[in-house]
Amino acid sequence: MVHADSALMSFPSAFIDELLARTNIVALINRYIPTPLKKSGRSYMACCPFHEEKTPSFSVTPDKGLYYCFSCHAAGNAIKFLMQHQRMTFPEAVEELAHQAGMEVPRQNTRVSTETQKRFEKMYTVMNKVSEFYKVQLKQDAQANGYLKQRGISQETAADFAVGYAPAAPYLKKCLGSDYDERVLNTIGLIAQGRNGFYEKFRGRLMFPIRDRRGNVIAFGGRLLPNQEGSSDKSPKYMNSPETPLFKKRNTLYGVHELKKVRALSCLLFVEGYMDAVSLAQHGVRNVVATLGTATSQTHIRIALRFSSNLIFCFDGDNAGKRAAVEAAKQALSVFTDGCSINFMFLPSGEDPDSYIKKHGYQVFDEQMKKAVPLADFLFEHHSEGLDLNNPAHATRYVQTLKPLIMQLPKGVFQELMFNRLAERINIDVDKLKTNYESPKPRVSRERNDKSRKEILYSTITVALRLLLEKPSLANQAPNADKIRTLQKPGAELLADVIEHILNKKLSNTAGIIEDFRESPHQESLTRLAAMSNITTT
Ligand SMILES: [Zn+2]
Repeated sequence: MVHADSALMSFPSAFIDELLARTNIVALINRYIPTPLKKSGRSYMACCPFHEEKTPSFSVTPDKGLYYCFSCHAAGNAIKFLMQHQRMTFPEAVEELAHQAGMEVPRQNTRVSTETQKRFEKMYTVMNKVSEFYKVQLKQDAQANGYLKQRGISQETAADFAVGYAPAAPYLKKCLGSDYDERVLNTIGLIAQGRNGFYEKFRGRLMFPIRDRRGNVIAFGGRLLPNQEGSSDKSPKYMNSPETPLFKKRNTLYGVHELKKVRALSCLLFVEGYMDAVSLAQHGVRNVVATLGTATSQTHIRIALRFSSNLIFCFDGDNAGKRAAVEAAKQALSVFTDGCSINFMFLPSGEDPDSYIKKHGYQVFDEQMKKAVPLADFLFEHHSEGLDLNNPAHATRYVQTLKPLIMQLPKGVFQELMFNRLAERINIDVDKLKTNYESPKPRVSRERNDKSRKEILYSTITVALRLLLEKPSLANQAPNADKIRTLQKPGAELLADVIEHILNKKLSNTAGIIEDFRESPHQESLTRLAAMSNITTT
C-alpha cells in the first residue's frame, strides 16, 4: 500500500467552501494578534501581524472571509492566515479550522479523486520498484561496490540510505515488466525523449533515492561511477531527477525519512548535497538533511523546524558559501519564531562536509557544530564587513541593509532585541531607528504595486471578476465560460475559470473561491482583488 503524501492531500471543494463560510475570520485572527481588530465600516482594522507598524493598515472583511494589508500586501483567507502566521501546513490549517467550527473532516480515502490517486500510486509503485532493483544491482556489481568502498561508505550506511546501482545497459523493461509504461516513466523523469526515441536517464551510476517523510521514493540522485566518466559528453558527474509531480526541489529535503531512526534530535544540520549527508552519517553525524542543488527555501526551513527548533546551516567558507549563507539567512528570517535557534557554520575554504569529516573525524566536526554562529551575529558581522560604522554614510548604509531584514521577522522578543542591537551598533536611539531611516527599497516596490493594482482594477474583465468574487451567485447569469475564453483580452481565461469553478463546485463565498485557486498562479491576484474591492464599492 502506498501512502498518500502531501501532494495528494486535498479536500472536497464543497467542504472547504462550507468550512470557510462557517469560520469567523475576525475572531480567528483576534486570537493571534496582541491588539484586537477594531470595526471600521464594512471591515475591521488592526496593526499588521506580518510587518512592523504603528498605524493600522491590516484590514479584515468578515463577509468575504479575507484579510489584506494595505502596507505589506499580505492577503488571504482563514486557511492562509494559519499557514502564514502559525506556519501550519495546508492540511493542518484545515484540521484546525474544522475543529474550531465543529465540522468533521472528510475521511482521507474520500479526499482525492480516484483517478488522481491511481495516477500517483502508479508513479510511487514504479519509483519504489526501480529503487529496489537498484539495491539488488549494487550487491551484484563489483565496480559499484568498489567505488562505494573508495568513498568510505559502509554496507550498513548504504543500506540505511537505500543506496543502489543503475547498470550501464538499459534495464527498465526487465526491472518493471508489466509496469513498464513510457508515459509514466517520462513523467517521473526516469526516461527522456532523445533524437531516437526515449532513452533511460540513469546509467552506470550509484543511485541515492530521495524519499519523502513516509519513505516513498520520489526522486533519485545519481553519481556516475568513475569508470563511466568520459564515456559520453552528456553525462555530468552528478545528476538528479527533474522536477516531477512527485518531486519539487524547493519543497524537498534529502534525509527526512532517515531522521526517523535518530533519537534525541538536539539540532539539525543542513548541508548542500546528498553525498555530504551520507558521508556525515557514515561518520556518526546522523542529524543531517540536504537541499538538492537549489538555494535554501522557506519551505525547507519550515520542514526542518518540525524536526528540531535548533538548525545549523553548514556552508563552504569561500565567497560562494557566504553568499549562499546570506540567502539562507534571509529565508530564515521570514519563518523565524521566538524560541527557535538558527546558526551558521563555515568550513575552511575548499572543504566540503565530506572532505572535512574524513580529514578530521567526528570530534572535530562536532566541535565546529557547537561553535556555529547565531543568525543575528552572522548578519550583523557579515553586513558590517568593509564598513566604518563611525562614518555616518557607512552607518546609514548599514541600517538600510539590516533594517529591512529585521522587519521581516515576526513581531516578538527576538525582533526587539535585533532592533536594540542595531541601534547600539550605530549609537542611536532605538525608537528613532524604528521610525526613521526607511530603507528606500520597499517604497519603490510599493509604488510599483500601486500602479499595477490600478491597472488591474479598471479593466472590464477585472470589474466582472470583482463582482463575481463579491457575489458568487452572479455566475448563474454570466455568459458561457467558453465564449468568454474566446475574447482576446487579458484575464478572460481567468474570468472563465472563476465562473466554471463557482458553477461546477457550487461555491458560495469569496474565501471559498480563493481557496479553490490554491494551486493556481492567480490566487494571489484574486485574493487582492477580492480583499480590496470594497475600497471602490463603498
Ligand atoms: Zn502588513
